[in-house]
Amino acid sequence: MDIPRIFTISESAHRIHNPFTPEKLATLGRALRLDAGARVLDLGSGSGEMLCTWARDYGITGIGIDLSLLFCGQAKLRAEELGVADRVTFIHGDAAGFIADEKVDVAACLGATWIGGGVAGTIGLLRKSLLPGGIILIGEPYWRRLPPAENVARGCGANATSDFLMLPELLASFGDLCYDVVEMVLADQDSWDRYEAAKWLTMRRWLDANPDDEYAKEVRATLTREPVRYAAYTRKYLGWGVFALMAR
Ligand code: SAH
Repeated sequence: MDIPRIFTISESAHRIHNPFTPEKLATLGRALRLDAGARVLDLGSGSGEMLCTWARDYGITGIGIDLSLLFCGQAKLRAEELGVADRVTFIHGDAAGFIADEKVDVAACLGATWIGGGVAGTIGLLRKSLLPGGIILIGEPYWRRLPPAENVARGCGANATSDFLMLPELLASFGDLCYDVVEMVLADQDSWDRYEAAKWLTMRRWLDANPDDEYAKEVRATLTREPVRYAAYTRKYLGWGVFALMAR
């Protein structure tokens, strides 16, 4: 049980597996005005950077679940490195259907809303773990510009233009689900570059170290096409943000 290998190769050196810089992650934590001791649940917690740094900086406690054994292991190491291993727990597993034993103040899913079958399903899942008056965090792409043709949407890694909304429509969709949007922090092109361009050096180093690996041909092809694909499509058309929601 794990995620496709291309991610654990290209993102093996990432602490944040999303187009957010450490500064933006800290801004988000500050924006939420968390009380020390607040409990945070994170579905698809990756390498645990959000929970670990928020435990260090804002005194939260946290539970993260992630399907990648590598990322989960990195999260545990990061917790020890930051001296918060007694406050955060990382579980390796499928987060689909996961409900916390003890309800939380903040329930998050950043960049993994397929876990609940889409944004609405993930909000429904997170809500089952949330205390009344708690905050749901959803990290999700949106179109900065509407793709002029379907091949542009596919160039951005989407199956179709209809996979994502424009920002006003995405915000309105939360309202349609009876949630107030109470905060948001958005990626920008520089923070997207940190996410995407960092993969290229990681892939190049991996190729140099593993020339005979059976997967090398695929990584080589990905590295060869990625910079131009990213500049032509994702960087131009795709936005990403984390939206803080409270039930009305
Ligand atoms: N929220 C993290 C990671 C986002 S990347 C961050 O911002 O850094 C998406 C993550 O979802 C990856 O770490 C991947 O391993 C994880 N994932 C994918 N499918 C999953 C599932 N069914 N259950 C739990 N985690 C999953």
